[in-house]
Amino acid sequence: MLKGKTALVTGSTSGIGLGIAKALAAQGANIVINGFGDVDGPKAEVEALGARVAYHGADMSKVSDIEDMMRYAAAQFGQVDILVNNAGIQHVARVENFPVERWDAVIAINLSSAFHATRLALPAMLAADGGKGWGRIINVASVHGLVGSAEKSAYVAAKHGIVGLTKVTALENATTGVTCNAICPGWVLTPLVQKQVDAKAAAGNISNEAATKQLLGEKEPSMQFTTPEELGALAVFFCSPAGNNVRGVAWNMDGGWAAQ
Ligand code: NAD
Repeated sequence: MLKGKTALVTGSTSGIGLGIAKALAAQGANIVINGFGDVDGPKAEVEALGARVAYHGADMSKVSDIEDMMRYAAAQFGQVDILVNNAGIQHVARVENFPVERWDAVIAINLSSAFHATRLALPAMLAADGGKGWGRIINVASVHGLVGSAEKSAYVAAKHGIVGLTKVTALENATTGVTCNAICPGWVLTPLVQKQVDAKAAAGNISNEAATKQLLGEKEPSMQFTTPEELGALAVFFCSPAGNNVRGVAWNMDGGWAAQ
């Protein structure tokens, strides 16, 4: 379905981003991956699906890195047709104890990076398909884009912000072939959440299993994690012809978290 299209997925060396990159690769898209840590492993996983894969190590907190990554992606594959703004970090502390440097980092990586990548991707998307425009911008927000949780001020502010950015981007391009939507996962067992499970286990002196149960039980009625594969399938839907007129939604996959 996505043969000939190019998808850039930020923060795709791990977790949800890697899951979405693999789902888009399985549909035939070329993939630009980005993120820190091991690159060869994730790159090989995406290539194994038959995709052409390029990697750029932009630090998403740095505007000049993002500009360089967008230029690199266009040079590799012609242009970016699908932009998945996924890179994100977490920091947990009460507002009065929240380190200022962590606030700035969370806002830069979880929110401002999406603005920069989007503004740089839009011109080519709008010019695509003989000027009618074709593009898909998918923002990986969170259920924390819809509701709050204590001790996550920067994260919740950034995720509410990205839901707002999603709506405005969708509206500004509503008469074109460029859509913008957000995905709002509940708990997904990635390294980002494993750290929170570990902290719970240490604080309560309980097992990993008990801490996991506690974490899910506090928020997620289904008592199960959403998977990167399920989120990848939703991203594929947004890219499909059936997603042509889905614009500005914040779609939660959260086991009922926000329904409470
Ligand atoms: P993860 O830690 O597994 O992956 C994060 C990715 O972002 C990695 O590839 C990492 O290298 C990259 N990254 C981090 N800082 C970066 C930077 N400065 N520049 C470039 N890349 C950077 O986390 P995840 O759980 O897969 O999270 C992905 C997204 O999903 C985040 O935006 C997160 O807020 C969101 N999310 C996660 C959950 C969850 O339960 N795991 C729930 C809702 C939303």
